[in-house]
Amino acid sequence: MINGNQLEKNNFQNLIEDDDIGKVEDRLNIIDVFLETEEHVTLEEMMRLLRIKGYDYDHEFVRQCMNRWVEHGFAQKKVFEGQPPRYEHHHLGRHHDHLICTKCGKIVEFRHEDLERIQLIIAADLGFHMLQHKMEIYGICSECLRARRPLMPLSMAKAGETILIKDIIGGREAKARLADMGLRQGDQLEVINNTGFGRLIVGHDCTRLALGRGIAQKILVSLAPNPQKEACEG
Ligand SMILES: [Zn+2]
Ligand SMILES: [Zn+2]
Ligand SMILES: [Zn+2]
Repeated sequence: MINGNQLEKNNFQNLIEDDDIGKVEDRLNIIDVFLETEEHVTLEEMMRLLRIKGYDYDHEFVRQCMNRWVEHGFAQKKVFEGQPPRYEHHHLGRHHDHLICTKCGKIVEFRHEDLERIQLIIAADLGFHMLQHKMEIYGICSECLRARRPLMPLSMAKAGETILIKDIIGGREAKARLADMGLRQGDQLEVINNTGFGRLIVGHDCTRLALGRGIAQKILVSLAPNPQKEACEG
């Protein structure tokens, strides 16, 4: 069966053959690599993907080819604030909008029918015939948000949470005591039990440690962004 990408590629092939600009095979190789990714790629990223496939094309040639592909309506060139231009697939009749993380640059696609409809209503109310629109929401993605979580003392962490030790306050003595237990900044802990009074039980490197509340208040932690459960023997 012939898929949408193949159709677009055939379609493009006919168009560039008509244009008679040569290097048809090379251009189609570039297009193949572009169609294989679902990302919003910059020219530099395209160059990297091409090198992975063993193609060593000239930067300018790739740029021209991508721009021609955009010109023929197979891709869209998007400029998100603070980022170099990116190319993305443009499948006829399929529209979506974007959320852009201003911290890590991640781009998330979405489409919401209510939003699509409201934009038409707004335009119509203002006597405007809408041809197209761009909806870009800038902000902080959920992963960056989690990484940014404020620090809290370990004594406030909840059972079941996986946390990272970000800082140890209380001077050298506290640090030395914790170092004796094998706890250091950057370590990951799993909170096994914390009833809100008395000692806390935490898992660290496959052992359970009991920490007094006093010392637990001196350990500043944040939730681990990607908790990795370690497999412990026995
Ligand atoms: Zn939209
Ligand atoms: Zn982010
Ligand atoms: Zn997109």
